Amino acid sequence: MKVLVCNAGSSTLKLSLFEAEEERLLADGLIDWTAKPARLGLRRPGQAELRAELTVGQHADAISRILDELQTIAPIHAVGHRVVHGGDRYSAAARITPEVKRAIDELAELAPLHNPPSLGCITAFENALPGVPQVAAFDTAFHATLSAAARTYPVPRSWTRDLGIRRYGFHGLSHSYCAGRAAAMIGRTNVRLIIAHLGNGASVSAVREGVCVDTSMGFTPLEGLMMGTRSGSVDPGVLIYMLREKGLDGDRLDRALNHESGLLGVSGVSSDMRQVLAAAPDNPDARLAVDIYVHRIRQTIGAMAATLGGVDGLVFTAGVGENSAEIRERVCANLDFLGLALDRSANRERRPDADIAAPASKARILVIATREDLTIVRETRKLIGL
Ligand code: AMP
Repeated sequence: MKVLVCNAGSSTLKLSLFEAEEERLLADGLIDWTAKPARLGLRRPGQAELRAELTVGQHADAISRILDELQTIAPIHAVGHRVVHGGDRYSAAARITPEVKRAIDELAELAPLHNPPSLGCITAFENALPGVPQVAAFDTAFHATLSAAARTYPVPRSWTRDLGIRRYGFHGLSHSYCAGRAAAMIGRTNVRLIIAHLGNGASVSAVREGVCVDTSMGFTPLEGLMMGTRSGSVDPGVLIYMLREKGLDGDRLDRALNHESGLLGVSGVSSDMRQVLAAAPDNPDARLAVDIYVHRIRQTIGAMAATLGGVDGLVFTAGVGENSAEIRERVCANLDFLGLALDRSANRERRPDADIAAPASKARILVIATREDLTIVRETRKLIGL
């Protein structure tokens, strides 16, 4: 069975064709609308990469072109979409129906950059691949198990009751994959895991026996850790002050906190951790940015350990988590009181997926290459029953 995984962002569309039973990648394609000029690329085994330049407005054409090419490799049996927001309606993946499409559309208010392009792709695929079943795998679904105490903000009751204001959590496809992979690496399912997804966006989740019990992102992907350009948590009083006393409006505040903060905002160098780390020895602002980044991850690990009542495994994943031995070492410093002791040479030498804890460490420290695409393939297979 061939499953096509579709990940539609605000400016790119990534497509991966899988032999689903073997979880083997057959081909992958990318449409990038931000490149100048916009471009389409497709990699297939044993063939030269297909590349084409696109003119704006060719969205549907580009999709049908890439689908035509993929169909020459193998007929597509099902399509699985990453959909960022499933609200409180979806605690698991769902087969696409008109009702599910309506829900994704209604939830666009909560994820304006992400839900609309997913919906656009679902419709384009309905036209291009009539009769092929489609599935939505939601980034919020893995966090649907949060208790009322973990998901509810202590704000006026009418906000939570009438407006859907609550912690939803994000990166669920990654956290879910890592939870399963970590349990397999540790060799048992009754484990308490803290999973640190550290990419451009970053979040930590606490997982007990495969069930998510806490997560650092909230109503939006802005809460929690410091990120590439996002501030993470700040005192809401700062926002009130900036709005009331300094004349910022909602749009300006949005831009500042989502696009001009985090590593970029503090360092003034870049949102890219590699560049901030490279600048840090000679640049106090870059050094401070890394110090805050590490401090906040450690704080959050402590909070998650308290929620779990202990930890059996700490997982590092995504761009920074998988690749930066320096950040991992700094995050793990003096965490022996949680039973976490790093093997410094294993941390520097081993490639993911790997256990980098010292042999005597009570809990494991794992580096896992995240595979959101495989979570989508598995959810799609489960729902389509193939
Ligand atoms: P992602 O969103 O998962 O693609 O992660 C992107 C982030 O990972 C960027 O901040 C990159 O700078 C960071 N990253 C990738 N490789 C490294 C590395 N070797 N060291 C530090 N950060 C890295």
